[in-house]
Amino acid sequence: MKTRPAGEGPRYPGGVTPSAGRADESATPSNARAAEAGEDVGVYVHIPFCERVCPYCDFAVVATPRLAAQRDERYTDALLAELSLRQPTFAGRALASLYFGGGTPSLLRPESIARVVEAVSNAFPPRGAVEVTLEVNPSTLERERLPAFRSAGVGRVSVGVQSFDDGVLKRLGRAHRAVEAHRTLEACRATGFDSLSMDLIYAAPGQSLEGLARDLDAAIAFGPEHLSAYELSIEPDTPFATAAARGQLDLPDEDTAVALAELVEARLAEAGLSRYEISSYARPGFEAVHNRRYWRRKPVLGLGSGAVSNDPLAPPKRPFGARVANLRGSDAYLECIEAGSTAEDGPAEVFDAATARGEAIFLGLRERRGVEAAAFEAEFGATPQVFYGATLDTLAEQGLLTRSVHGDLALTARGRLLSDTVFAYFV
Ligand code: SF4
Repeated sequence: MKTRPAGEGPRYPGGVTPSAGRADESATPSNARAAEAGEDVGVYVHIPFCERVCPYCDFAVVATPRLAAQRDERYTDALLAELSLRQPTFAGRALASLYFGGGTPSLLRPESIARVVEAVSNAFPPRGAVEVTLEVNPSTLERERLPAFRSAGVGRVSVGVQSFDDGVLKRLGRAHRAVEAHRTLEACRATGFDSLSMDLIYAAPGQSLEGLARDLDAAIAFGPEHLSAYELSIEPDTPFATAAARGQLDLPDEDTAVALAELVEARLAEAGLSRYEISSYARPGFEAVHNRRYWRRKPVLGLGSGAVSNDPLAPPKRPFGARVANLRGSDAYLECIEAGSTAEDGPAEVFDAATARGEAIFLGLRERRGVEAAAFEAEFGATPQVFYGATLDTLAEQGLLTRSVHGDLALTARGRLLSDTVFAYFV
C-alpha cells in the first residue's frame, strides 16, 4: 500500500517540530529494524470529557460540565504513564500523526495538551513535520484557549459544528448554538490555524434539503481545508435509539436521506472540496493524515479510556497485526494505569489472514482511490478477484463497484450511497 513517505510532512503549519531522531538505547532488534525501515506510528489520544452527553452519542464519554484542574492533571498523568508502558511495542517508529479526539479534548488545559505533545514526540521522534489535530467544540472557554493550543503544538483544529441551524442543534441535543460555531470558526482563523476542519451532520431530525443547503453554504463561507459530513446514525442503547423505536424522531425517509447525501457531495465539490473518503472532503493536500492510517491499516497507538490500538505487524507470530481496545470507563482506566498496568479491555484480537483480507477490502473501499489489486496481492498472495470473485461479480452487476483491467476496485457513486451494504460482504 502507498503511504506518505516518512520524513515528508503534511502541509500543516505548527505541529511537532521535526527532530533528527535519537538513538533508542532500549531498542530491541525488531525495534531497530522498524527504525531502519523508516516505519512510523500515529498516536490517538482519547479525552473522554464532554460538557454534556449528546443523545445520539455512543462514544466513551463522561458528562463533565466543568473539568477541574485536578481531574485534568490526573487524567493527563495517566496518559503519560500509559505512553511509557506501551511505547516499547512501537519503539523505533517515527511519529507520523497525533490526534486528540473525544469526548471534547479542548476541555483539557493547553498545558496538559503541551505535556502530551512533548511526551509523544520524545517517545517517537518524528522525521518530518507532523500533523497534530485537536477536536474543538464551539464554546467560549475553548475559543479563548486557541492561541495557547497553537503554542502547545497543535497545527490543525477540527471543529464540531454539526449544523448552523439552531433548530437542528437543539434537536440533536447539542450544548452549543450556531452563533458559537461562527465565533469559534472565526477565532480559529484569527488565531492563525490555516488547516481547519469541521464536522457536519446530515439526515438529522427535521432537517430539510433547504436547511442542509444553508448549512453547507455557511460552512463553505469559512473556506475550510477539510470537512467531514456524517449521516446521523442511530446507535443502540442511546436516547435516540429509544426515541426512534417509539416513533418520536422525525428522521428523513430513505429517498430524502439519499438526496441529502447527494447534495453534500455536489455542493462541496463545487466549493473545491473533493470527496476522498466516504465521509471526508478536502482541498488537495489537506486529506487527514491520521484518519488515513486507519483506512490503510497502519499502526496506531491509542491512549486513554476506550482508545483502540492497531499494533504493528510482528511476523511470524502476528503477520497480520492485532487490535486492542482500552477499558471504556474513565475511572476503571485510571485505576488500572495508576496501579501500574495497562488498561486493556480483554486480550488483543490477533488477525488471521481472512479477517485481514476483509479489512483490507472494506477499509480500502472507503477511500476514493479504492483497493489496488497488485498491493493486495503482494500482501495476501493473490488478487481480490481470486478470494472474492463471486461477491465482486455480484457487486459489479448491481452497479456498486467498478473493477479496472488490472483488478483494482473502487466504489461507484451508488456504491458510496450504499457503502454499508457493500462493506457487510467483507466484514
Ligand atoms: S460532544 Fe461529541 S463526543 Fe461529546 S457527547 Fe456530544 S457527540 Fe459525543
